Amino acid sequence: MAKILAVHAHPDDVEHLCAGTLAVLARGGHEIVIATMTAGECGSDSTDLAATAAIRRGEAARAAALIGARYACADIPDLGVFNDDRCRRAAVELVRAAGAEIVLTASPADYHPDHEATSQLVRDACFAASVPNYATGAAAPLAAIPHLYFVDPIGGRDREGVPVVPEFGCEVSDAMETKRRMLGEHASQAAWVARQHGIADHLASMETWTRRRGADFGVAAAEGFRQYRHQPYPKTPRLQELLGAALLTAKG
Ligand SMILES: [Zn+2]
Repeated sequence: MAKILAVHAHPDDVEHLCAGTLAVLARGGHEIVIATMTAGECGSDSTDLAATAAIRRGEAARAAALIGARYACADIPDLGVFNDDRCRRAAVELVRAAGAEIVLTASPADYHPDHEATSQLVRDACFAASVPNYATGAAAPLAAIPHLYFVDPIGGRDREGVPVVPEFGCEVSDAMETKRRMLGEHASQAAWVARQHGIADHLASMETWTRRRGADFGVAAAEGFRQYRHQPYPKTPRLQELLGAALLTAKG
């Protein structure tokens, strides 16, 4: 069994982009932690910062619990995620506390500054997590650098609208109901996403996206991934092997 950490910027990002894959992995008996760099406290126009953070932490914890996962938050301010010392130490603490062997994180190119910063921070946190002299908090340094994977950006495109092509996919056709229920826990975001993003139905938007990625692979629903293999990160296909029959390699 593997220890898997999925860490993104805000509550509901993981649910949009890789919750189906986490459901598949949870079914396989793997230990999963869902984490966010922020509590997403700017994601409301009807409740204040503290109330919004509390609401969204509760939503994220309930979504994680649906697949038997734990939820953790690094408590960095929303729209305040930067590639700096504080945020890097917080990201490393998340990776260490999860005892992560496999890490899924944000795409290096995405629509939101917190997403792009989270991607850089978690990439570098995977390296730093096994450095004993790098102090973070209570969690012990890891024995090794985890296998690192980037999820799709929102909408599958970078800021210039150029498609971001996944290296492989996970078929989530039979995990869609779980994915829908996980995102459905983020009830506070329905009105916010409609106001800020002009998306009337965030559940339908997620479903449309997941089915579009599925069509790229010739299946009903999928989520895409790219493995980060730069020296000295592990290059073996650990996640791909865990996905088993759900692994989609030929983009067609
Ligand atoms: Zn986000």
